[in-house]
Amino acid sequence: MIELTTENTQKAVAKCRQLKPKVRFIKDRLFVVYSANNSNVYHVSFDVKDGKKLGQCECKASERGLVCYHIIAGATVNIYRQSLKRAR
Ligand SMILES: [Zn+2]
Repeated sequence: MIELTTENTQKAVAKCRQLKPKVRFIKDRLFVVYSANNSNVYHVSFDVKDGKKLGQCECKASERGLVCYHIIAGATVNIYRQSLKRAR
């Protein structure tokens, strides 16, 4: 899994805002993100370890240790869900 920091997510956040990929919730911390460019779908998962936010995607960028916009798209929904839980 890749640690998500403010620095390494910047580019992906910008790309995600531009492309606005669709995200589907599967189960806690697991999402499917639909590629904005083609018909590919990617499973994105999240974890928290020692206070570090970790994310993982199935695409080639993520395999090389880069934070892709799929992770950001999933993370956006994940954070939204967590905040809903806290509100209850
Ligand atoms: Zn990806």
